[in-house]
Amino acid sequence: MAWDMVVVGGGPAGLFAAIAAAERGARALVLEHMSNPGRKLLASGGGQCNLTHGGEIMDFLPHYGGGTRPGEAGRFLRPALYAFSNSDLVTWCTRWGVPLTEDPDGRVFPISRRAQDVLDLLLAEARRRRVELRTGVRVRSLRVERSRFVVLTAPEQKPVIEGLTLVLATGGRSYPSLGATGDGYRLAASLGHSVVSPRPTLAPVVVERNAFSPFVPCAGVSLPGAAVAVVREKRTIAEKEGGVLFTHRGLSGPAVLNLSRYVLPGDSVRVSLLAGSGSIDLAEQRLTAEIAAHGKRTVVSLLQGFGVTACLARALVAAVGLGPGTKAAELPREARRVLATSLAAGGDGGHPFPVGSLGGWNEAMVTAGGVRLSEVDSKTLESRLVPGLFFAGEILDVDGDTGGYNLQAAFSTGRLAGTSAAGKARSGARRRVTR
Ligand SMILES: Cc1cc2nc3c(=O)[nH]c(=O)nc-3n(C[C@H](O)[C@H](O)[C@H](O)COP(=O)(O)OP(=O)(O)OC[C@H]3O[C@@H](n4cnc5c(N)ncnc54)[C@H](O)[C@@H]3O)c2cc1C
Repeated sequence: MAWDMVVVGGGPAGLFAAIAAAERGARALVLEHMSNPGRKLLASGGGQCNLTHGGEIMDFLPHYGGGTRPGEAGRFLRPALYAFSNSDLVTWCTRWGVPLTEDPDGRVFPISRRAQDVLDLLLAEARRRRVELRTGVRVRSLRVERSRFVVLTAPEQKPVIEGLTLVLATGGRSYPSLGATGDGYRLAASLGHSVVSPRPTLAPVVVERNAFSPFVPCAGVSLPGAAVAVVREKRTIAEKEGGVLFTHRGLSGPAVLNLSRYVLPGDSVRVSLLAGSGSIDLAEQRLTAEIAAHGKRTVVSLLQGFGVTACLARALVAAVGLGPGTKAAELPREARRVLATSLAAGGDGGHPFPVGSLGGWNEAMVTAGGVRLSEVDSKTLESRLVPGLFFAGEILDVDGDTGGYNLQAAFSTGRLAGTSAAGKARSGARRRVTR
């Protein structure tokens, strides 16, 4: 007998879709190729699971990239996010025994700080609703026969699995060690969908080696509230304010990760190395005044006096080609302007870090690109091309900022896809009975 709904992928989106469908009386089967479901969920938030963000749900919309036009991803997600919002998720988790807490920066975690508790909750709810979960089963191909989905797996399942509806929730391509296969894109394409090329995002930026060498000793230094901009051919294409973390090879931290969806090799990432230092002219005026007053001090100690960390002060002086003992009075005029630029924010301000590459699939937390949004009905998450086919989670061409936006999207789209698929299966069954 055919299942009402077959879900491919046992991550948060797939499990939540199955739970939502089962709540509406549907017989749901989840197929997961790893030996355990929800591996990425377990790794999320460093194992603590930052599963959503505080605030109003309408404020979530600008935090998503994807689609072909600015704002398209947010508009696409709106029905799913409004139908099952951040506060609905908090209520749901709390009601079933996993209370959540909001950090001062808005990130929401289980009070226990254990991602395992969130996964255990999903699995317990799935069991309670009689969702069947089969692990170690990789879906290889799909076909539609007499309005049913025939699912072909490895190792080969007998009898063949059939579903009245099918939810593709296979996630993206990042972190293959946590189960990502990218199979979903191929499966969607085999049913006629187009897929926007997947690329890594929420990824650290690797800076060109020579330009970064003075900053290598600063690995581990973080700057809160830095102004960061992505510059391509002298044009600023995106900018944000937030935390920046220096790594051994380049830049990370929330502001850089959130901008990484726009970054290409050859771009420059500009970081203001001193929060609140204002425009380049203002920073230069302050430097000039300090030099006039304290010409005998070293440039490094002068910069430290401004609030620049010792390590970054040394790196900046090295980056303009001077030794660490250079006295303020000896600072050439052009070097002073360059230093002022590195400290400043806005306009052309910020230290320019030329991008060598972006962290790859083993470092990117999320995949940008995926199933093209215009081919999916945002109100139901049903395919506009194949009736009965639904999509949920990261497989869609949607990627969220850090801070809980990706898991919220997985839960909200999972819920909407599951509810819609259950309705579809029921109406199909009614039609068959009436006939
Ligand atoms: C290290 C890390 C930390 C993160 N931290 C956070 C965080 O704190 N907050 C946040 O909001 N987001 C975070 N994310 C992102 C978030 O985890 C994902 O966006 C989210 O898990 C996506 O859910 P999903 O169900 O769509 O996909 P996934 O969680 O990737 O689940 C898809 C499932 O499908 C299975 N699968 C794939 N192909 C097949 C196949 N052919 N057959 C059967 N099964 C298949 C996979 O094994 C996997 O279990 C993090 C990601 C990473 C990698």
